[in-house]
Formats: sequence, C-alpha cells, structure tokens
Amino acid sequence: MRDKAVSRIFDEASRDGRKFLFEHEAKALCGLYAMPVTMINLAKTEDDAVKAAEKIGFPIVLKIVSPQVLHKSDAGGVLVNIKDKQGTREGFKRIMKNVMAYAPKAEIIGVIVQEMAPNGTEVIVGSTRDSTFGPTIMFGLGGIFVEILKDVSFRLVPITRTDAEEMVREIKAYRILEGVRGKPPVDQETIIDVLMKTSKMLEECPEIRELDINPIIVYEKGAKIVDARVIL
Ligand code: ADP
Ligand code: MG
Repeated sequence: MRDKAVSRIFDEASRDGRKFLFEHEAKALCGLYAMPVTMINLAKTEDDAVKAAEKIGFPIVLKIVSPQVLHKSDAGGVLVNIKDKQGTREGFKRIMKNVMAYAPKAEIIGVIVQEMAPNGTEVIVGSTRDSTFGPTIMFGLGGIFVEILKDVSFRLVPITRTDAEEMVREIKAYRILEGVRGKPPVDQETIIDVLMKTSKMLEECPEIRELDINPIIVYEKGAKIVDARVIL
C-alpha cells in the first residue's frame, strides 16, 4: 500500500487540472520512495529565495516553476552555481525576465531553490507506459549517450534486483561506469537501488504515464537526482 502523501501529490495536480507534476512535486514523490533527491525549496519572492538559499547553503541552483515551461533550460529558466545572496537576487530577476521573454503569458508559480550537486557521471532513468504490458523502465547514461546513441536498457515493471543489475551492465557504455582514463568507478549499488525504487513507484502509481529522471549525478559514493519530470 502506498503512502498517503503519495496520493496527496497526485490529488493536488488533479485538482489543478494538471497533466504533469512540477519538478518539486516529482522530487517529493521520488523522496517518498527514499531516492536521493537534491534539497529543494519553492520560493515565491526574491526575499524567500534568499532565505531558502541561506538555509540550503551556497552554491545553489535556481529554476523556474511554471505550467507553461516543461523544459526549463529552453526558457532560460535554470541558473546553476549561484554563490551568494546578491547572486540569488540577480538570478531570481534574470529567470523572471528570461521566462517572460520566452513565454509572455506564462503563469509563474515561483522559483525552486536547490542545492547544487557536484560534477559526476550523469545517468538517466525513465519510463513510458505500454498499452498492453504496462509501465516499462529504462536506464542509460545522460547526454549524447541517450539522445544520439540511444544506448539504453529496458525492462517491464516490476523488476527484480537481478534485472536492475543487468540493466546497468548491458548498456554499451558500461565501461564508463566502471571508471576509465583515471576517472574513478561510480557507485553502481546506488543506481541499482534507484532502479528498484523507481520500479516500486511505477507499480504503485498508475497515474504516472511518463517518467524522466534526468539527470541523476552519480559519484564514487552515492548519487543526486537533479531533475525529475512526470507526465500523468
Ligand atoms: P530541464 O527542465 O531543462 O531539463 P534541468 O533541471 O534538467 O532542466 O536543468 C538543466 C541542467 O542543469 C541539468 O541537466 C544539469 O546539468 C544542470 N542542473 C540542474 N539542477 C542542478 C543541480 N541541482 N545541481 C547541479 N546541476 C544542476
Ligand atoms: Mg532535465
């Protein structure tokens, strides 16, 4: 049985007549399944954003929250590596300006303030729903590996631990995860754990039509989910 807090996230979207979850909602959902999401705060005003940034600790990332902006960086709606209070104020104004120029009628819910995840290896976990077989789960490396090389692995949900291990190992770029050219290996155990938790979430949440956790930054130890998108 899923947590009541999980249902509340979908209920709120449905009350608004929304066919997707905002990033902070999608991350809250992943957080309820104990996945490693970035610390996050929704700010309505510049002052709120500064308070949130000081609570989280610099450097931080600012992102637009608007129902008209699903791909935030396309709209100039993502600013990374903001180092201080002054930068937070300027960044807040700049995001508002960028988004207004990109989509003048955009309704602005606020700006997400979140911890800046350090560099690491970017991977993605996704899902689409097959009309016959139900939810699928996909794994791949971020960036060109998925977009250009289509180097991904797939399974039907639910997956076992063995499935998750195989999904990680069967991508062509697997050697990158093992560490190449002086780069240390990444924490494969954490990836396997995220895949299994995602499978459980997909099994328990028929509301999810599409899921795109992109990217998850993986380190020698642990990982951070930096962006998550859910279509209902
Ligand atoms: P979009 O809606 O455009 O996909 P993202 O939230 O994925 O927006 O942000 C775009 C990119 O900015 C990410 O792919 C990542 O490289 C970087 N980024 C976003 N959030 C963070 C963060 N918290 N820490 C570090 N890098 C981030
Ligand atoms: Mg993204």
